[in-house]
Amino acid sequence: MKAGGRSEADALAAQRPEKKFSALAAIYRAHEQAVQPFTQDAICRPGCSFCCTHYGRLDATTLEGLAIRRRLALFNGRQQVRLRDRIRRNRIEKEAGKASVCPFLDNDGRCRIYEVRPFSCRQLYSLKPCRDSGPTVHRQAVALARQAVRTIQRLDDTGYSGHLTFLLALLEDRRFRCLYSGGGFDPAGIEVFGKAHGLTINCRVGASDNNAETR
Ligand code: SF4
Ligand code: SF4
Repeated sequence: MKAGGRSEADALAAQRPEKKFSALAAIYRAHEQAVQPFTQDAICRPGCSFCCTHYGRLDATTLEGLAIRRRLALFNGRQQVRLRDRIRRNRIEKEAGKASVCPFLDNDGRCRIYEVRPFSCRQLYSLKPCRDSGPTVHRQAVALARQAVRTIQRLDDTGYSGHLTFLLALLEDRRFRCLYSGGGFDPAGIEVFGKAHGLTINCRVGASDNNAETR
């Protein structure tokens, strides 16, 4: 769909990150609808959280990280301190190459940031109880999820992809946050941190696959 020589996707990608939240939500919704024929038989239910502790990577884009950061600011002071401590611990454990439970998983198996959870969580479902082999899914749904990841990365073309807690650490840096929020892009400025933490540049990468690493 071209308008004045630029596609709708190009025009959206050129916007400042804050203005892209509704486009991000639209991609989530479109994916949910596209996979509905497959997920309608899923056995997922609130409190079922094997996938939050044993399967998949807690990957996200910078744009998703920014949405989650904003959600964190809405928790009360005590909750924020607790969550920030859990995020910090998750990052340290991941940096040490250890398995680590998602910092947003509550004691009752529910997600504290469910409404803004990243796409890596949204794409998961299972037709059978999850065991060590992970969720039972349709191949077509996995292919659709890969397409959605690329669409999200294209939308966030001045951002990065990688583990959520590393992206949140990047967003803690005021200089990075101001540059990114203003639509700026300076890969050299985060090169050392990015390489050490396996971050990829959205405008230069292909679809990233899930793997069986723990969150
Ligand atoms: S993917 Fe598996 S562990 Fe996660 S909610 Fe669904 S059934 Fe439960
Ligand atoms: S962000 Fe929420 S849905 Fe995703 S792994 Fe963590 S607790 Fe589970």
